[in-house]
Amino acid sequence: MDRTFAMLIDGAAVAGAGNFPVINPATGRPFAHCPHADRALLDRAVAAGVAAFPRWAATPVDDRAALVARLADALATRADEFAALLTAEQGKPLAQAGHEVAGAVETLRAFAAMRPESRVLRDDGRARIVEHRTPLGVVAAIVPWNYPLLLLMNKIGPGLVAGNCIVAKPAPTTPLTALLFGEICRELLPPGVVNIICDRNDLGDALTGHSDIAMLSFTGSTATGRKVMAAGAQAIRRVSLELGGNDAAIVLDDADPVVAARRIFAGAMMNAGQVCVAIKRAYVPETMMEPFCDELVRLAQAHVVDNGARQGAQMGPLQNAAQYEKVKALLAETAEQGRVLAGGAAIDRPGYFIAPTIVRDLPDDARLVREEQFGPVLPVLSYSDIDEAVARADAGVYGLGGSVWGHDVDRAAQVAMRMGSGTVWINQHAALDAAIPFRGARQSGMGGDLGQDGLHEYTQAHIVNIALGRGV
Ligand code: NAD
Repeated sequence: MDRTFAMLIDGAAVAGAGNFPVINPATGRPFAHCPHADRALLDRAVAAGVAAFPRWAATPVDDRAALVARLADALATRADEFAALLTAEQGKPLAQAGHEVAGAVETLRAFAAMRPESRVLRDDGRARIVEHRTPLGVVAAIVPWNYPLLLLMNKIGPGLVAGNCIVAKPAPTTPLTALLFGEICRELLPPGVVNIICDRNDLGDALTGHSDIAMLSFTGSTATGRKVMAAGAQAIRRVSLELGGNDAAIVLDDADPVVAARRIFAGAMMNAGQVCVAIKRAYVPETMMEPFCDELVRLAQAHVVDNGARQGAQMGPLQNAAQYEKVKALLAETAEQGRVLAGGAAIDRPGYFIAPTIVRDLPDDARLVREEQFGPVLPVLSYSDIDEAVARADAGVYGLGGSVWGHDVDRAAQVAMRMGSGTVWINQHAALDAAIPFRGARQSGMGGDLGQDGLHEYTQAHIVNIALGRGV
């Protein structure tokens, strides 16, 4: 690929302080170069947001939303180009890259249809008190590498409709689709409203600590989220964190084990397991273990793992070398602690490929059970008592998503009510929708981007309290 990419600062395409190679994870080799910012360019991007903010905030919300809808239309028009670039930088199969682009379009459209809502808190003849929702200023939007385009739109959509300006920073291993989106912003938005800068994983602190940033909107690991929150604490900046997860799926004893296994396999292996809400553990009744695991093994062995650009690939590589090494180390430990039924190792070829892996009989304190694997590796854990299963599923620091699988959905919903994660799905998993709030519990985050609540996250509650009948 020989095209050049530029950052977006103050409405201009900016070449950057230098370039770094972007690796195609299916080959392990560079396929493009990406410009990166330095501190001076970062300052310019923030200053552009600060300068653009008063006019953008004063633009009628319907006009702002109309521009967000135009961003969506422009993205939809270039969907194939975005999907091909996404597969090249992220690794996911082309069809799944197409779904991510379509999801990004839908997200922008969903926010274009939402409005910050004012509410009358009191109107009793003596006082009229109204809560308005006003924008905050310049939002730093920091995203990870698993869904680089969609997760960015989760921030740009609500951020712009709410009236904020944005300085976005993609992850250094997947910066290119964000820069391509910058081309669309450059055509459609006033200068400075959206700025997109790249780094070599070295400008996060400078951005989150910048005195002119009003809000830190971060999606990524819990470890980095902790640093972002600490940076926010210095100036009491608004902080929204969407962090890691270790989602459990609980299969009930009235489920069909084969049907449940199929859907749970899909929920665990999507994007090669690199999803904050991938199924990362399955709790299955002891009596159901054999048919459930047999079906998982059949699916794992039949799953086509290949370069995502090739027709027929169902799963691509892990996105980067560091994640690949992390999952390989987990697999080495796992082989000693549990029974590996399928996969269990890297695939011997260039790139960062791991075989779809099914493991059973791990102890609850195994790292693969306690930590977020972020790879195509599913531990299956047996249980004999549902109370015990709920307690084990809820153990640990994360509380992002979870799911319950059973024939009787009312009974499944009762189990869901006892689980502590922010979202619990029944007979499905990871069914995210831009119009529905999505918020992590415990160390999976605070705040969040989606739904009307997500839009309000990008605003300040502004109360106007009028004394009536007491004119001066
Ligand atoms: P990461 O935390 O390493 O990086 C995320 C982003 O933060 C990158 O852009 C990175 O450059 C930047 N960053 C690095 N150091 C920083 C610092 N000191 N200050 C500010 N920013 C900094 O995460 P990752 O490994 O890229 O992504 C995987 C993680 O993201 C997983 O834990 C996954 O569960 C989580 N995630 C969560 C959600 C959600 O909605 N809850 C969605 C997707 C991914």
